[in-house]
Amino acid sequence: MDNDLLRADGIETGYGKVQVLWGAALAVPAGASVVLLGANGAGKTTLLKVLVGLMPAWHGSVHLSGTDITAWRTDRRVRLGLAYMSELGVFPGLTIEENLRIGGQFAERAVLQRRIAELYAVFPDLAERKRALAGALSGGQRKMLGIAKALASGPKLLVMDEPSAGLSPLFVQQVIGVLGRFRAGGAAEGAGISMLIAEQNVAFLDLADRVYTLDGGRIRFGGTVAELHADDALHRAYFGLA
Ligand code: ATP
Repeated sequence: MDNDLLRADGIETGYGKVQVLWGAALAVPAGASVVLLGANGAGKTTLLKVLVGLMPAWHGSVHLSGTDITAWRTDRRVRLGLAYMSELGVFPGLTIEENLRIGGQFAERAVLQRRIAELYAVFPDLAERKRALAGALSGGQRKMLGIAKALASGPKLLVMDEPSAGLSPLFVQQVIGVLGRFRAGGAAEGAGISMLIAEQNVAFLDLADRVYTLDGGRIRFGGTVAELHADDALHRAYFGLA
């Protein structure tokens, strides 16, 4: 569709000779938040890596803002507005401030300065400890720094790999709350960022305008959260019998 910010079609890839993704396709409309649901080993990380340019696609294509970026290196994709938060998300040996500067390394100095000040306003815990090493932060704070670092590039699209990984339910809710402030209609400065969130935690569906399920390297479903609930087999698979 014309208003798709990101679109992937027919993605096939793998490790060595072992194929992991089989014709995976998804789209993130401009301004939308999309959740990619899948169990451990479904291929979520692999698909995100193809989208951000950390793994080549054997077949298929990736478009960002209508431009074919399939063969582009990651840094070019970042300049076009894509930010990626891996499961680790931060450089533990660098300070909070240094992590944010790396996140925004392609921005002009003055722009980055202003952006970091805005991020500190949203993340006061980080502002208090600018010179602390990221590795010294708690798991929850480190995740917040990962999100702030990704936002420091001023992205149109934030791609996140399992932001809930290693977090207690309380921190998961805090992460969801923070992301909600940056999505379209959110309260944060610069709200309106599109998001693609790979998760196995269904709590993230609170953020989703659209959801895909990935199973065995294949996209099995794409639609709204209500449509996911309406499908008995998928409902059982992702929400249990409740
Ligand atoms: P997780 O939640 O565990 O990260 P995932 O959905 O992100 O799961 P992937 O990490 O993309 O899944 O893994 C998909 C498949 O690819 C799995 O079968 C996994 O064993 C395999 N795989 C992942 N990384 C490698 C690698 N570096 N070399 C070989 N196989 C790999």
